[in-house]
Amino acid sequence: MTRIWIRGGRVIDPANDRDEVCDVLLEDGRVAAVGPALSVDDAEVVDATGRWVCPGFVDLHTHLREPGQEYKEDIATGGRAAVAGGFTAVACMANTQPVNDDPATTDFILDRARSDSPAKVYPVAAATKGLKGEVMTEMSALVEAGAVAFSDDGKTIMDGGVMRHVLEYSRLVTAPIITHAEDRTLVAGGVMNEGAMSTRLGLPGNPAIAEDVHVARDLMLAEFTEAHLHVAHVSTQGAVDLIRTARDRGVHVTAEAAPHHLTLTDEAVREFDTHAKVAPPLRSAADRDACRAGLADGTLDAIATDHAPHAQHEKELDFVEAPPGMIGFETAVAVTLDLVRDRTLSPVEWVRRLTANPAQILNRPGGSLGVGGPGDVTILDPEQRWSYDPAKGYSKSRNSPWSGHELTGRVLFTLVDGKLVFDVERGVLV
Ligand SMILES: [Zn+2]
Repeated sequence: MTRIWIRGGRVIDPANDRDEVCDVLLEDGRVAAVGPALSVDDAEVVDATGRWVCPGFVDLHTHLREPGQEYKEDIATGGRAAVAGGFTAVACMANTQPVNDDPATTDFILDRARSDSPAKVYPVAAATKGLKGEVMTEMSALVEAGAVAFSDDGKTIMDGGVMRHVLEYSRLVTAPIITHAEDRTLVAGGVMNEGAMSTRLGLPGNPAIAEDVHVARDLMLAEFTEAHLHVAHVSTQGAVDLIRTARDRGVHVTAEAAPHHLTLTDEAVREFDTHAKVAPPLRSAADRDACRAGLADGTLDAIATDHAPHAQHEKELDFVEAPPGMIGFETAVAVTLDLVRDRTLSPVEWVRRLTANPAQILNRPGGSLGVGGPGDVTILDPEQRWSYDPAKGYSKSRNSPWSGHELTGRVLFTLVDGKLVFDVERGVLV
């Protein structure tokens, strides 16, 4: 019997309305007890005095690149980077090679995750075959194989008729449809936010209206079909407003924001830095502030990294040619604690958006320190300053705009199923 006794930390567990200094006991992989000054014999002790003890963080939007693009990342390195960033479970998008659009690929991902990844891995299957936006995948067979949601992420389902059927069918398998909402005809080859900065840099702009229009369409289709729509990486004020009013009239919609959209603007592109190229793009300060306000008032339910590794030779291409995306596991905690520091979110609400909410969106256990639940725990110091060097991180890729930055807030320990898998002093332990 393995027992871990986490002593004296500030336990922040929004699912159980808990925010107090107390102990957590993990036994045989599960939460066995939570309470003040437990008395335990014969346990490994983790001293959490002065630290935050949270349910393991759940990242509902990541790219692990396996199968097919292992030069960028694989399930082992992605899983290690995840736990080093405090994420005990990650959902991985389907835009691998081959695309995760059949049960054999879903099986492969889950097998690999079981043998190689210290983090739990939840495969998101493609909504349409080959991410072509034309023919629906076999959703029930994919759910049987272990898919937790469906998405053509990276691509947009432009055909409204196809999206209608995808949403209708998703109700039968009780899995959310995650939309990457960018109207391709309005993006029209844009590579950064359309605005004063794109004009100054002479780069083709991708306007906010490309996202707003597509979010509006998908919300109307979700209302019509009564399906669960989840909007990925919301980046515009318009999208936040549309989601808020749709939710108010009862549409089953959830949404996420990425750390970079919550903290950066298109100013970050000024030096043609390809590490600041993402899709959807970094927007204006007004858009960023609307995303922060949307996260604060609950319109946006979750923080999701959209961890998107790319090799150095790809990010060294010129701005137009370089692929969009940035890695995010190991910086997400420090970067988004900014919202706690400026009081946009209370500590409890910040933790909720990294735990209970994403777990609930994916219909997975976890995201809570309820007794009997999985022993997934993230322990962090919200004030520790450290210098981020992706070369010393666990991802195979280094494409981060925070490379070389001083960050505040650091994950110290991560436990999955009652086992210590990351200790900041010793590194990833499996
Ligand atoms: Zn996307």
